[in-house]
Amino acid sequence: MAENSSGRSTLTRRLGIAVVVLLVAVVSYYLTTREEHNPITGEDQRVALSVEQEIALGLQARPEMMQEYGGLDPSQEGQQRIDRIGERIVAQSAAGQSPYKFEFHLLDDAETVNAFALPGGQIFMTEGLYKLLDTDEEIAGVLAHEVGHVIARHSSEQMARAKLTEGLAKAGQIAVYDPENPQSSEMKAKMAQLVSAMVSMKYGRDDELESDDLGVRFMVESNYDPHAMIEVMKVLDQASQGNRPPEFMSTHPDPDNRIEKIKAAIAKYSR
Ligand SMILES: [Zn+2]
Repeated sequence: MAENSSGRSTLTRRLGIAVVVLLVAVVSYYLTTREEHNPITGEDQRVALSVEQEIALGLQARPEMMQEYGGLDPSQEGQQRIDRIGERIVAQSAAGQSPYKFEFHLLDDAETVNAFALPGGQIFMTEGLYKLLDTDEEIAGVLAHEVGHVIARHSSEQMARAKLTEGLAKAGQIAVYDPENPQSSEMKAKMAQLVSAMVSMKYGRDDELESDDLGVRFMVESNYDPHAMIEVMKVLDQASQGNRPPEFMSTHPDPDNRIEKIKAAIAKYSR
């Protein structure tokens, strides 16, 4: 009888602690993340970082990202082509109405087939992927998809979600991030975490589909044929056979289903 009741009280205490931890996590989530309206996607979303923090974080993490993929590609021609296409997308689409300062970087890694976006507008494409893309339209497809991740603030949303699940300790790390003091140890920890997350390709399936949709929209707005996005999917699907999948394919979405959704987006935005 005594044993039984003490067993019950241990369980009650454990449940009590669990509830407190959960409450703390939920409360800190609401205190340290913010609900913001995204004027380009039209969504209200919960994000961990302000736009200014996203830009600062992206600039701070940029050198590590470059280092990870062999540094900048020495080919001026390739870099200039990426710049020209990226700048046209930004200048002629709704992406240009955002506060982000987009920069496009061709990285000197011919073995890796990949492209990434850091929060705030730093966008990267490897030489390995660049070589597989035949036309300006296909390059535009990749860049527009990555611009979509930035505009939809996927990293900032994921950090907000991670706070909820990781609880107070993790939430504190971002809460103490100070853009005035970017070299703080919290900042460094955050950057390392960001780069490793980007490298291990952490976007979810819904994020990929939203970036496909935004990518198609930005292509239409900047007068690139959005059908090239379908070609990009085929190229990346082919390239990911037997290798570590590129960022685009990180969540193994059914390629046919994804192409159907791209076709629907093309019809939606081409009206
Ligand atoms: Zn993506």
